[in-house]
Amino acid sequence: MKVDRVVVGAGFAGSTIAERLARGLGERVLLIDRRSHVGGNAYDEHDEAGILVHRYGPHIFHTNAERVVDYLSRFTDWRPYEHRVLARVRGRLVPIPINLDTVNRLFGLSLGEDELEAWFAERAETAPRIRTSEDAVVARVGRELYELFFRGYTRKQWGLDPSELDASVTSRIPVRTDRDDRYFTDSFQAMPREGYTAMFARMLDHPNIHVSLDTDFRELPASLRSGPVVFTGPVDEFFGRRFGPLPYRSLEFRFETHDVRQLLPVGTVNEPDETAVPYTRTTEFKHLTGQAHPRTTIVREFPRADGDPYYPIPRPENEALYERYRALAERTADVAFVGRLATYRYYNMDQVVAQALMTYRRLAGERSAVA
Ligand code: FAD
Ligand code: UDP
Repeated sequence: MKVDRVVVGAGFAGSTIAERLARGLGERVLLIDRRSHVGGNAYDEHDEAGILVHRYGPHIFHTNAERVVDYLSRFTDWRPYEHRVLARVRGRLVPIPINLDTVNRLFGLSLGEDELEAWFAERAETAPRIRTSEDAVVARVGRELYELFFRGYTRKQWGLDPSELDASVTSRIPVRTDRDDRYFTDSFQAMPREGYTAMFARMLDHPNIHVSLDTDFRELPASLRSGPVVFTGPVDEFFGRRFGPLPYRSLEFRFETHDVRQLLPVGTVNEPDETAVPYTRTTEFKHLTGQAHPRTTIVREFPRADGDPYYPIPRPENEALYERYRALAERTADVAFVGRLATYRYYNMDQVVAQALMTYRRLAGERSAVA
């Protein structure tokens, strides 16, 4: 087959670009992934017990971007799902994000919605500048709640103290003064009805898309590697780590199947205690997927320094190193870098799709400019 473009990585970034190039522009696309499946980190499959699980940790779809919903809805129906999380603090399970019930239950209070803001303000420590993940939380709710909910969890998850991470990391988690206990408040919150992998299969079902699994970019013949290419893997790896390795955080996922219908009261239980519990959270998939099954499977996430790169680590020195790779990427003709690892951004799935659609429009514009 003649190939117009090689797309490296069959996750959200690569699959969106491949679909658009093939259906939108009629390009012949070779989509490769070194894993044995499509879907990237959003890959799901049925485990031995027949329960639909996410192999790379729980993936909950939520977005405010209508265009992203419109686009993905071409390939899947949706099951409405609003994620709820409880954190185990002082031996109790209380809502996270912190809300009115969290504070009232933890401190034996009966504050009203109109009183909580003042309660936070009494405890908040003013900072001249909100720079770190510690600043962001302490300036909003004070040190006690910071230590109970954020310090230990963050130190486990990242292997760094919150004072060493950008404010943007803990700022992902809002603070509420009402009783809303949803993890996300986006206008669209739903799961692909038959799962992510089924959605990817429909995206990639096109005669112009050839999918080659268990294929590493480095093993392709030079003629294919020399472009045009869309690369969605780690950007430092693409350039042979010539400026040094970009730091990533990894996780080990431990799955367990239990002979009960339901194990957890909500989709996820967070474990902010740093010393007593080595993992960060436990997720029970049936809450997310709505699957009916007499048994249930959970996954626990154990943070690791080594292993597959899952998270870019947002802090100034890493951003400076990435900036060197980004400048090099910009000068690399015929290669577009898209996705969470290729642009070193702590992006959710919807942000990756939006970024891929933008890249597609740029590539389509370049082509029509040449034509
Ligand atoms: P990836 O999914 O990482 O895909 C990149 C692909 O490229 C991989 O399959 C890889 O094998 C392949 N690849 C890399 N290098 C090469 C090479 N040299 N040759 C061939 N193939 C290569 N987002 C949400 O919106 N909601 C959530 O609830 C959520 N939960 C998450 C939980 C966890 C534990 C993690 C780690 C992430 C979570 N995310 C969530 C983020 C989400 O996973 C990402 O935004 C999204 O999957 C990124 O897509 P991507 O295509 O950029 O990267
Ligand atoms: N976080 C925390 N305690 C919690 C939940 C989150 O300290 O109970 C912090 C932690 O640093 C985490 C970050 O907020 O890495 C972002 O949380 P999110 O749930 O968005 O992480 P992800 O789902 O991306 O792993």
